[in-house]
Amino acid sequence: MKPLAYHELGDMFVEPGCAVCNLLRRDVRHYISTLLYEFTLDLDVNKAFRAGRGLCNEHGNQLLEHKGSSLSIAILYKFIVKDLLQIIEQSSEEPKPQPIFARLRKGDTGNSLAARLGPSRSCLVCDMVAEAEGRYTQALSEHIGDETLRGKYERSEGLCLSHFRQVLSRTRDPAGYQSLISIQQAIWVRLEAELDEFIAKNDYQRTDPMGIEGDSWSRAARRIAGEKGIFGLDRRGG
Ligand SMILES: [Zn+2]
Ligand SMILES: [Zn+2]
Repeated sequence: MKPLAYHELGDMFVEPGCAVCNLLRRDVRHYISTLLYEFTLDLDVNKAFRAGRGLCNEHGNQLLEHKGSSLSIAILYKFIVKDLLQIIEQSSEEPKPQPIFARLRKGDTGNSLAARLGPSRSCLVCDMVAEAEGRYTQALSEHIGDETLRGKYERSEGLCLSHFRQVLSRTRDPAGYQSLISIQQAIWVRLEAELDEFIAKNDYQRTDPMGIEGDSWSRAARRIAGEKGIFGLDRRGG
């Protein structure tokens, strides 16, 4: 029996963009709305959210895209602001910062106010992304020998650089390894030709209209960097 991730990848390969990024984007949206609607009052999640000082830059901003959640966001962040104020209050009787050379000589104990104000764990969403990313890349690595899945990958826009590298590094089977390389190579060869065509058509002497190469510049940037909003501040995909 095939794992769920196998079917999800197959369905997502027909959509534009990296299938793994697109699945992760769906998962992040779902996770954040669960966080806002169900976990706001869950003590363990609340504790982890506070320890991470909320979410990373990317995911913290994605939180704001969930309309109608202002109350949940207020509750989650109230605790964080409270924690920060408490840390500052506790440190108000501590001596002033020492000159940098004195601190270097003593060695940084990591107990400075700056360190204590920082997060003591990673972003909850980044952690979820890392776990899900592992599941999808493992499923593709294990089932690349499957004709249906391979065909869908071949006809797709390919994986982003980060996810292609992750799938490659998980693949032990020599035939599967070779399949992965030749599929992604063919996709990059097509992309390069489209970029060449786009660049050539930007010559003022060329008057023929743009074809599918018209947005190759933007597809290339996304395929190399990964789709928008996938890699949070804590992780850049391996
Ligand atoms: Zn990707
Ligand atoms: Zn994050």
